[in-house]
Amino acid sequence: MPQNTYDVTIVGGGHNGLVAAAYLAKAGKSVLILEANSEIGGATTSVRAFAEYDAMLSRYSYLVSLLPDQIISDLGLNFQCLSRKISSYTPYSRDGRDLGLYVARQWDQETADSFNQIDPTGAEWQAWQSFYNELAVFAEKIAPTMLMPLQSRSELKAMINMPEVWDYLMERPIGEVIQSRFKNDIVRGVILTDALVGTFASAFEMQANICFLYHLIGNGTGEWKVPYGGMGALVKELERVAIAAGVTIKVNSRVTSVTTTDSKATALLEDGTEISAQYILSNAAPQTLAKLRGTTPPQSLEGAQMKINILLKALPKLKSGIEPRLAFAGTFHANESFSTFEAVFADAKIGKLADKLPIEMYCHTLTDPSILSSELQDAGYQTLTLFGFHTPAALFEADNEDTKARALKAALASLNELLVEPIETVMAAVEVKSPLDIEAEIGLPKGNIFHKDLSFPFREDAQRPGWGVETDDPRIFICGAGAIRGGGVSGIPGHNAAMAVLAAFQID
Ligand SMILES: Cc1cc2nc3c(=O)[nH]c(=O)nc-3n(C[C@H](O)[C@H](O)[C@H](O)COP(=O)(O)OP(=O)(O)OC[C@H]3O[C@@H](n4cnc5c(N)ncnc54)[C@H](O)[C@@H]3O)c2cc1C
Repeated sequence: MPQNTYDVTIVGGGHNGLVAAAYLAKAGKSVLILEANSEIGGATTSVRAFAEYDAMLSRYSYLVSLLPDQIISDLGLNFQCLSRKISSYTPYSRDGRDLGLYVARQWDQETADSFNQIDPTGAEWQAWQSFYNELAVFAEKIAPTMLMPLQSRSELKAMINMPEVWDYLMERPIGEVIQSRFKNDIVRGVILTDALVGTFASAFEMQANICFLYHLIGNGTGEWKVPYGGMGALVKELERVAIAAGVTIKVNSRVTSVTTTDSKATALLEDGTEISAQYILSNAAPQTLAKLRGTTPPQSLEGAQMKINILLKALPKLKSGIEPRLAFAGTFHANESFSTFEAVFADAKIGKLADKLPIEMYCHTLTDPSILSSELQDAGYQTLTLFGFHTPAALFEADNEDTKARALKAALASLNELLVEPIETVMAAVEVKSPLDIEAEIGLPKGNIFHKDLSFPFREDAQRPGWGVETDDPRIFICGAGAIRGGGVSGIPGHNAAMAVLAAFQID
């Protein structure tokens, strides 16, 4: 007879469900993960996207910053992230000349020269340095709180003790500080991108601030690193550790309802099987959990990004003349000035797809070629991971395939403007994922990459203390991206839900 009773059942086998399961099993609890798909990993998988090429692409998420080193060491994960020397490159043209803003991770002469080309007075690079120096101190202070019970707004503000930075990050639209401290539209746009990843907002909406904050606090540095072996390597390691600790994982097991009594929580599977446990953790989005419980789903923005995975026969040459291995190693921004972002957002809001999308991309294989077979490596193949902005799910609803084709064209148009030869001349294969595809394939509501809108990493002063993973039912917790401090590849809500449940077991 299969076992149908556990201490904890987890709905969904994304990376956060695996993190929660591993912590709980290591603490001696019996844990079952129920995953709807035939594979675990959710948005953190690597796949052979093109049957004819032996290349394992990070199909959805592709860079890591938010995963605390503490989780890696607590769980004993053999998972490594690699630094990139270049932070970003942003080509632009001025007076008929093709130029580029080059930003190394560690400030260097090339970076200084590149800023001086944009603004010979030096004001723009000085503004850049002082802004990011302030943010670095702020990030260092806030990062360790992510794996602690939620602090209140006042407690966190007092602990950080940087009132001016707090004000422009937490209280006023991020667009205001960017406009007041920087003059150049391209520099402003490079800064703004971090506020708009997966977030369909104007620079002057507070949701952009929250996204910005999460993009700079990871591990206290905000550095975005390349997952060695691709994003799927993280899932493999989490699976190994979870199983070694005694976790049971069942795939092809979609949960269709969740109910509770005073003493237990029950998950019902599609085939009618009932699993009971003392607690249920939802790695599925809060909107999905609400459906499973028959309650009202929380409001959220829809997803607004295009993910385009490309296999290249060679890197393309740039009109600006920069060595392509430098240009594509960090984040490559195209058509991403501040004013373009605002204009494209306004159009997308009224249902118009831009002719040229704001896009950013990077080449994983320049830092980590191991995701390609040795034959592809020897033949000079590379990958390009492209993320397109301000393409909300609603744009795709009338005809997903047709809109994807148009959006791909609009994304490549932005890139081709900057290249000597069109990207198509070196492209071996391409796949496009719209927000609707992401919902259909891995269940992210309307393709929202954070499950639902990100929240600031504190509770309001009047709210009850907790870990940010609690629901209105004491038997149900959220262990996925939709928790407070969830969102992104972080394991944070998985860790925090495990801690909350272990505390609940002690009271039981
Ligand atoms: C295109 C894209 C690019 C991204 N890029 C990055 C990036 O570079 N860096 C970064 O940090 N973040 C990125 N993100 C965000 C990040 O990947 C996610 O926020 C994070 O992976 C969510 O992890 P999770 O474990 O909470 O949930 P998920 O990965 O969404 O896993 C949830 C799991 O629950 C399962 N499930 C849902 N409903 C049920 C049910 N009823 N029964 C059983 N199982 C169910 C799903 O099948 C899924 O496997 C990206 C996301 C996307 C989509």
